[in-house]
This record gives sequence, C-alpha cells and structure tokens, in this order.
Amino acid sequence: MNHDDPLRNEESLDPDDWQSLRQLGHQMVDDMLNFLQRLPNEPVWRKVSQEARDGLSQALPAEAEGIQKSYGDFLKFVLPYYKGNIHPRFWGWVEGGGTPFGMLGEMLAAAMNPNLAIGDHGAVYVEKQVIEWCKQMMGFPPTSSGILVSGGSMANLTALTVARNSIMDMRKKGVRSVRGMLTLYCSAETHSSIQKSVETLGLGSEALRKIPVNSRYEIDMPKLVSAIAQDREAGHTPFCVIGNVGTVNTGAIDPIQDLLELCRKEKLWLHIDGAFGALAVLTDEYKPALKGMNEADSIAFDLHKWMYMQYGVGCVLIRNAELHRSAFSITPEYLTKHSRGLGAGPEAFGNLGIELSHGFRGLKVWLSIKEHGIDKYRRIIMQNILQARYLAEKIKNEARLELVAPVPMNLVCFRFVSNGVGLERLNELNKEILMELHERGIAVPTYTTLNGVYAIRVAITNHRSQKKDFDVLVREVIGIGEELLKN
Ligand SMILES: *Cc1c(COP(=O)(O)O)cnc(C)c1O
Repeated sequence: MNHDDPLRNEESLDPDDWQSLRQLGHQMVDDMLNFLQRLPNEPVWRKVSQEARDGLSQALPAEAEGIQKSYGDFLKFVLPYYKGNIHPRFWGWVEGGGTPFGMLGEMLAAAMNPNLAIGDHGAVYVEKQVIEWCKQMMGFPPTSSGILVSGGSMANLTALTVARNSIMDMRKKGVRSVRGMLTLYCSAETHSSIQKSVETLGLGSEALRKIPVNSRYEIDMPKLVSAIAQDREAGHTPFCVIGNVGTVNTGAIDPIQDLLELCRKEKLWLHIDGAFGALAVLTDEYKPALKGMNEADSIAFDLHKWMYMQYGVGCVLIRNAELHRSAFSITPEYLTKHSRGLGAGPEAFGNLGIELSHGFRGLKVWLSIKEHGIDKYRRIIMQNILQARYLAEKIKNEARLELVAPVPMNLVCFRFVSNGVGLERLNELNKEILMELHERGIAVPTYTTLNGVYAIRVAITNHRSQKKDFDVLVREVIGIGEELLKN
C-alpha cells in the first residue's frame, strides 16, 4: 500500500450508512405529512422561543453532528415556528400555502438536482411543458416565450429588462443612448417590486411615474394620458406602462383594454403585473373582465401564490420571443451548444433570464397540475373569491365592523368601529386587534392604510380556508375590539 498517496482516504458527502438515512427519510416523510394533516388544530403562529433562537445562533460546526441530531434540532428549533401561511386561517400579505404532493415534488426535484441553465435532459422538457401550460392558462400565443423564475419580483424585473433592452442600442450603449429620461407609468397602487426593478435597471425611481387612482383604486386613465404627453413634451422617452391585475392593497384591476389601446397608439410596452390576480383568468366569471390581458407584451405572475405551489416559483411570459432572447442571450465559448450529446438541446434557459444556474422549480408545478387538473384550480380560485364576498357580506351585517375598500376580487379591507371614537384612536385600536389576532394564534390577516385609515387586510389565496374560518375571524375581531374598548 502506498501511504504517500494523498487520495488514499477519499470521501464523499453521500451517507456511509444508506440504511440509516433511508429509515430517517421515511420517518421525515411521515412526520411532515402528519404535521400538515394536524396543522389546522394548531395556532396559526407562535413566537420563536428564546431556546430556539439560541439553538439557531451556534458557531460553525467543525465536527459532524450527524443526521439524527441535525433532524432533532430541526424538530425542536425550526418546525414549531412555521410561518403560518400553511394554516387555514392565514390571509397575510399575499401568500400561498403549498400542498403535500408539492412537498414530495420538491424532494424529487432535489434528488435529481439538475441545473437547467443548459443541456439536453428531462428537466428542461418538463420546464418547457410547464411554460406551455402557463401560456395556455394566460391565453398567450404558442409563439410567445417564457421562463420560470423565483417569484413575481424576478418576473417583473425580467419583463422590464426585456422592455428596456428592446430599445435600439440599449445593450451596447446603455441608457445614455436615449433622449431624456426613459419613463415608465403605473398606478400609485403598484407593488414595490416594480419600483425596485426600475431602480435596479438604473432608470431611477423618478422615471417611474405613479399615476393617481380612482375610487376603485384603478389607474386614472386621463391622468395617465396627460403624463405621457407631458413627458414627451419635456423631451423624455416614455417606453413602458405597467398595468395591475390585482393590486396588493385591494385587489384592484386596472382597465386593461384601455391600457392596451393607449399603448398601441403610443407605441409603448404594456407589462402586466398579475402576481396573484392574473390567475383569476382561470375562472369563468373573471375571464371577460381580464380580456386583453393576453395581448400585453409581457406578463408576470406567481405560481407560489394563487396556484398554491411551494415557494419559490413565478412565471414571466413575453409575447415577442425574439425580443426576449435578444435581451439576455450571451454565449461565451463554454456555453456554446453542441449538435449532439448533453450539450445539445432546446434554447438554453440561461439565454432567457438574468440568472444562469436554474433549479428544477418546474417539477412541483408539473406534478401538481397533473395531480389535480386545472379545473380544480379554477374552482378553488373561485372559492377564494366567493369567500372574500362571504366575508364582505358578514362585515356589512355587523354594526361593529366596516368595509374600508371595494372587494373586486379576493382581498377584503375592513376595520372595527365604534360610535364616537375618532380616526386616530380607531387606527390604534385596529392595529392592536391585529397584533392580538397574531399573538393569540387565531388568524393572520395583515394591514394596509387607505386614505389614512388603518385597515385589517385579508388576502385570500389559501386553498385550506373554509367559511367557518372567516366566521372565527369576524367573531374574534369583534370580541377583541370590544375587550380593548373596555380597557
Ligand atoms: C407578491 C407580489 C409581487 C412580488 O412577487 P414575489 O413572488 O413576492 O416576488 C409583485 N406584485 C404583486 C401585485 C404581488 O402581489
């Protein structure tokens, strides 16, 4: 034996004892399915304990702790402090809850662990299939192009990058190739990820013209028209309008047909931020209202919100496939495709987005849609909208409660009220009610402020919620509100 061979004790990260790992793996699957099955009886949230925080502030381990101890620490320090979005009474921000089969899908994707940046392998065809399904869901033509990304923010950034790079000489000369400021337009109710994208793209937040909204929280068209005209007059270069299909505050839908007409006339790129709301197109009732959405130049939407998939997966579709590709494709020698072998295959996803390495986020989508069929998603999305209406009706019938905004879709903004109590005191009171709801583990809505009014905001993108969960919410808000009034 050659004792000088530095490789005489080669190691890998695979287990020495596959049988123990197999056993623990089975245990983990059982534990997680039990956890999900029992969760409705648990509080929607609990505060992370000091013990858990200490357990999660340890020094970098030099020595092996092993699989049993690592999993034990997860069960002790992490699992009990789930975020709550997997619970039936979670309606905070806009979040999806995932599904048990989606969880297993994540495991399968992780086992294969492919990088979809480039290559001719199964995962690439799954992802292409999912993108085709996304086009069909949104009514985009087969000739359009798309990519799965980490979420709505990345989808918005990707689309706005294509819009910007579609301007002549942009990739080579940058924004200095353009006259004045490159301006974009959206309503004042637009999600912050749009501003972040504009800032990331080096256009400056000033270039994003936030147009006021009407009483339904939709973009004010005449004001949009005059803002564009003013900018042209001032020597700027308008290039893009962002339309909302489902604003985060109230679920408002901008007038898509009007935006489409205007953008065609003004030769502007129309991007739709449909992070959650675009999925309403799957329902018979909303399909007509969203007519024209499929004629936009690009659309961003999440699969981890209103399609209830595990985080993080969103989709961006670009009508003009050539513009999409030419916005990002860059092919150094090491990424040049071959005609055969693993280095061949369809268009590399690395050419369709900002990121190169790209995990197998499409598998859970493919599996889940096959598991249930798209008609089930249609029904549950509509169920969420009907639940929003049910809640709104209940609120209208309660003297102690008041709706604060219209309910066009799946978002309900309301507050606790009491005769003779002024605005400021009511704002404080409702904030207190919200914190109590969380701390008592009852329910998780979040909040927004509309015209100075603090509103409890219920965003329903939860396949686990039932009517009775909204009954609990109403009862508890009134109960806590009255309790607080007394003190
Ligand atoms: C959530 C949301 C986004 C951002 O999507 P992420 O998946 O959180 O990155 C953008 N726009 C709207 C309207 C949203 O609701």
